[in-house]
Amino acid sequence: MSRAYNFAAGPAALPEPVLRQAQAELLEWGDARASIAEISHRSPEFMRVAAEAEADLRRLLSIPDDYAVLFLAGGATTQQALVALNFAAPGQAADYVVSGHWGKVALKQVQAYVDANVAASGEADGFRDIPPASQWRLSKDAAYLHVTANETIHGVEFRPEWGALPETGDVPLFADFSSSIASEPLDVSKFGLVYAGAQKNLGPVGVTVVIVRRDLLERAGQPRADIFNYASHAKAGSMLNTPPSYNWYLAGLVFKWMLAEGGVVEFARRSAEKARLLYAAIDGSGGFYRNEVASNVRSRMNVPFFLQDDALTAAFLAEAKEAGLLALKGHRVLGGVRASIYNAMPVEGVRALAGFMHEFQQRRG
Ligand code: PMP
Repeated sequence: MSRAYNFAAGPAALPEPVLRQAQAELLEWGDARASIAEISHRSPEFMRVAAEAEADLRRLLSIPDDYAVLFLAGGATTQQALVALNFAAPGQAADYVVSGHWGKVALKQVQAYVDANVAASGEADGFRDIPPASQWRLSKDAAYLHVTANETIHGVEFRPEWGALPETGDVPLFADFSSSIASEPLDVSKFGLVYAGAQKNLGPVGVTVVIVRRDLLERAGQPRADIFNYASHAKAGSMLNTPPSYNWYLAGLVFKWMLAEGGVVEFARRSAEKARLLYAAIDGSGGFYRNEVASNVRSRMNVPFFLQDDALTAAFLAEAKEAGLLALKGHRVLGGVRASIYNAMPVEGVRALAGFMHEFQQRRG
């Protein structure tokens, strides 16, 4: 049997050419006569891989020079705690817009350190919409404003149709881009800090990218161990301790693949097409399938949906798997079905899913 279409939310599908290259290089990388997984992170070979990955990511996302790029372990959740430790004084206010499960998790990580203010939340509405920016209750002297660019479970994403993020003056905007980074052009200069776990759009789990405006690294923050200090990581080129070198290497291969495919402009085009296909399949089903997210904030990356008759969900998932469409089970928080359609998912995969949905409805509807 061949590889199936994998709709997992993360760890998620990787581009097949990347897996093939990693396979070909696994025993011996270049002329190192050893695997890249076996050599020192300070060896000239790995230093080259690391520097190329950073340069490629900078090119891919047009990251300005006054931003540092870090490759860290610990996942996105660890960054959610570290932002408070690094950038807020003890007890200082920090504003959070909670647009889904991951916004709530972000908030939970900082409550011991800051005066966390929920500036807006979509929870009362089941996270089906994002409150308009005009209604956000921002603090006077917040250390930062935190948003989740794309909510991986609730399928809610800040889109241009929703409107613009508010002007926050001297308060830097921090954004969790774990599940949508590199899926369209990003104006990094609008943000003080952007972070993303790699395991959705950038590569394998185990490495997290942090993009941070360098002047912010001068903030005192809170008492913390050196290993929790972004400035120390930046100074050490993300090699303060042993970095997740194999994951960093694999992410680097994904960056090269994305650049070769046409970069973020091309992935924005593909993402729009995939999302259009899938939402059309849902909305055109006469209610057999339904997605409840407001149309102006529907995620292009994660599409949760429900069957009208929930008793059919188990059969839907089992038959989809038989048809080569994997990992469509909804997150336990929501149930139902969820299709994650990150950069590595080809348009044909989404077409196959839409075709299966139609055919399942014909048989069971
Ligand atoms: N933020 C978002 C938007 C996520 O989707 C996830 C993971 N699914 C996380 C944070 C947590 O990431 P990690 O498991 O890497 O800590």
